[in-house]
Amino acid sequence: MSTPMSADVVVVGAGLAGLAAARDLSDGGADVLVVEARPRVGGRVEQVRQPDGRLVQLGGEVIGNSHTAYQQLVAELGLSLVPSYVAEPGELTYALHEAVYVGSSPPWFSAADHDSMARIEERFAGLAATVDPDDPWRHPDAAALDHTSVRQWLVAEQATPPVLRALEVAQLGLSAGSLERTSLLALLRKCATTESHGLYSYAEWENLRVAEGSATVALRMAEELGDRVRCSAPARAIKASAGGCSVQLDSGELLHCAAVVSAVPAGPFRDIETSGVSDARLESLHRQRHALAAKFVAAYPRPFWRDRGQSGLSESEGILGSSWPQGEAVLSTLVPPERLAAYVSTDPRFRRTEALAELARWFGPEAREPVATYERLWGTDPWTQGYITQWRPGDVLAVGPLHGTHEPPLYVCGSDQWVAGYMEGAVRTGRAAARAALQHG
Ligand SMILES: Cc1cc2nc3c(=O)[nH]c(=O)nc-3n(C[C@H](O)[C@H](O)[C@H](O)COP(=O)(O)OP(=O)(O)OC[C@H]3O[C@@H](n4cnc5c(N)ncnc54)[C@H](O)[C@@H]3O)c2cc1C
Repeated sequence: MSTPMSADVVVVGAGLAGLAAARDLSDGGADVLVVEARPRVGGRVEQVRQPDGRLVQLGGEVIGNSHTAYQQLVAELGLSLVPSYVAEPGELTYALHEAVYVGSSPPWFSAADHDSMARIEERFAGLAATVDPDDPWRHPDAAALDHTSVRQWLVAEQATPPVLRALEVAQLGLSAGSLERTSLLALLRKCATTESHGLYSYAEWENLRVAEGSATVALRMAEELGDRVRCSAPARAIKASAGGCSVQLDSGELLHCAAVVSAVPAGPFRDIETSGVSDARLESLHRQRHALAAKFVAAYPRPFWRDRGQSGLSESEGILGSSWPQGEAVLSTLVPPERLAAYVSTDPRFRRTEALAELARWFGPEAREPVATYERLWGTDPWTQGYITQWRPGDVLAVGPLHGTHEPPLYVCGSDQWVAGYMEGAVRTGRAAARAALQHG
């Protein structure tokens, strides 16, 4: 008698990737079970409703023009995309150590700095055009590009000091690792997925959001899957074998299946005892890492920053690295990896006061009077242990060409398995994993 199966496929993790994979597997006729560690679905997309009815996003929010897999899923779910904060009137705020500037481009730039930035942009786009995002390892200079940090490249390209500073501030704004801790090949690979191939642009990466709320995308998929999603069920071990796989939960329960889809971030994956796959596969997965960050959100009665000609979008050298309006007078901010230790070392009550004081420095005293604030320490959360994928110099080669591939009957998805995280990466790799598993039978 054969071993009873709990499901054809067990998906570990109910973030966007795991849910997108499970939805397609289920539509393809597979019997699927999703196990999720937290008591809720969505992973790094999470929303709460304020008493006044406004939805507040505590995780991923915005997408860009080039995020086609995510856009396709949103359409299938009957949800709609609207312009993000890019539609907000007013100018960008640059909060530097010595001064706060408001302007459309770094106001401390001279004509020579603008020329330098334009040349850097052109050189970068030219180089990015030579990188295949699906196979950066085949680039003739892959090793050299990977072991070069973005900062080293900028210096070699004679970027002026004000340009270097502007790009460092922008990097803090994204909450990605700093330029000296980012592989040039990784950044080229990421930007090679866009039409312009240029350095980060808001239009290509951040100009849209889901009108019904970012986390609604996950909630809709979970609704469709119904009781095929089990929350508060952390996986502790995965055994992959052509003769039958198993997933053991923290409770000790053993789930049998023909295939497993791992849809957990790099950190939590290391905590799952995984057997039955090659050492090379495990090393590749364990080599991945995250930039650790936190999110602080302040909801206000009105968008007071507009009074001063500010859009609410900012890049900063402070503990908060950036802010942007997520909609209806709610400001999102990120604490970048290079600042997270300073942030978490502070008592939570004072973190709040200090964060609001920073916002007041940028936008005026009304910033100290929110109707509510929210804090989400994604970097120290055991089920995320991060924020988004980080590729330090050397990491693209260390993770290697197994990145984003599968070893049936173990399939791997999640935003870490794409070029650079993002909700697009989660949806794209989740659906690809489902396709691969269905094809393999
Ligand atoms: C503050 C913040 C802001 C962001 N902003 C944006 C943005 O504006 N635009 C954008 O595109 N992206 C953004 N991102 C990134 C984006 O949210 C993520 O890349 C994406 O949501 C990840 O989806 P995922 O399914 O790959 O992983 P996750 O959402 O992390 O899902 C993984 C799931 O696995 C579960 N899990 C972990 N361990 C176990 C276990 N042992 N057993 C069972 N389940 C487990 C977790 O609880 C989680 O639900 C942001 C992320 C953060 C944190």
